[in-house]
Amino acid sequence: YEAKRAGETLAVYRAEHDQYTWQRLTLIGELRQAIDKGRLDLHYQPKVDLATGRVRGVEALVRWPHEQKGLLYSDAFIPLAEQAGLIRPLTLWVFEHAVRQATAWRHEGLVLTVSVNLSVKDLQDVDFPRKVERIFHLEGGDPSRFMVELTEGSMMLNPERALQVISALHRIGLRLAIDDFGTGYSSFAYLKQLPASEIKIDKSFVRHMVEEENDAAIVRSTIDLAHNLDLRVVAEGVENVATLEALRRLRCDMVQGFVVSPPLPAAEIPGWMRRFSLGGTWDAREGTAAP
Ligand code: C2E
Ligand code: MG
Ligand code: MG
Ligand code: MG
Repeated sequence: YEAKRAGETLAVYRAEHDQYTWQRLTLIGELRQAIDKGRLDLHYQPKVDLATGRVRGVEALVRWPHEQKGLLYSDAFIPLAEQAGLIRPLTLWVFEHAVRQATAWRHEGLVLTVSVNLSVKDLQDVDFPRKVERIFHLEGGDPSRFMVELTEGSMMLNPERALQVISALHRIGLRLAIDDFGTGYSSFAYLKQLPASEIKIDKSFVRHMVEEENDAAIVRSTIDLAHNLDLRVVAEGVENVATLEALRRLRCDMVQGFVVSPPLPAAEIPGWMRRFSLGGTWDAREGTAAP
C-alpha cells in the first residue's frame, strides 16, 4: 500500500512535470511561429525631459498578441526567447519594425528618437552590427535617431566581444543607454570604457524613493555619478507626481513611467503627443499633474 501511494505520488509529480515541459515547448513553438510570421507588436513609451517637459524619445517594448492568452508583455516571454535561442531573430524583428515605424512617423511630421532593447546574445553576435546597418539601409532610417539599451549583465559574457559589437554599433551612429542601472554588477571601469550617452536608473530604486530613504540615496548618487561622467540620466518606473517632483529637485534629466504615459500602441503616439504638449497629461512647465 505504502509503495503504491509513493508510486502514485511519483506518477502525479511526473505528469505535472511533463505538462510543465509540454506547455513550455508549446509556448516556444508558438513564439517561433509568431516571430517567423511577424505576429508580434511594438508598444512605445515616451521619455520626457524634466526641465522642459518635452518628449525626448520613445522606447520600443515588444508585445505578443497570443491567440489564447491575450496580449503578453515582454516580461512574460523575453526570458523564454533568450533560453530558447529565439532572441536574435526577435531583436532583428524589433529593429526592423521600429525603424519602419520611425520612418512612418517622420512622414507624418513627427521626428522621434527611438530606443531598442538588446540582449546578451545580440552582443555576442559579431555580425549583428552589419545586420542592423542593413535594416537601416533597406528601411531608409537615420541611425543617429536611434538608441540601443543594454543592461550591465549583458556585458558579463565575453566582455571583449560585447565591447567590439557595441563599438561597431556606435560607429554606425547609434547612441547607447545603460538600462536597469544599479541591478547588475556595476563596474566603474566598465562604465568608463563604454561609449554610452545615457544611464537609466532601474525602477526598483525609483518606485519607492519617496518613502524609502535608502532608495532615494541610491537615486541621488546615480544622478551625480552620471553627471560627473557627462551622461544624461533617465529615471524609469516613475508612477506618481511626488516621485516626479523629487527627481526634478535632484536634477534628474528625464523620466519614463506610468505618471507620464504607459507604453502605447504606435497608432496612439501622435494623438498622445498632441494632448501632452497641450498640458493634458502632466504639465512640466507648471509642475502639476492634470486630474
Ligand atoms: P526595460 O527595458 O527596463 O523596460 C521597462 C519595463 O518597465 C517595461 O516592461 C515597461 O512596461 C515597464 N514600466 C514602464 N513604466 C513603468 C512604471 O511606471 N511602473 C512600473 N512598475 N513598470 C513600468 P515590459 O514591457 O514588460 O518589458 C520588460 C523588459 O523586457 C524590459 O525592461 C526589457 O529589458 C525587456 N524587453 C522589452 N522589449 C524588448 C525587446 O524588444 N528586446 C529585448 N531583448 N528585450 C526587451
Ligand atoms: Mg529598456
Ligand atoms: Mg529598464
Ligand atoms: Mg528591466
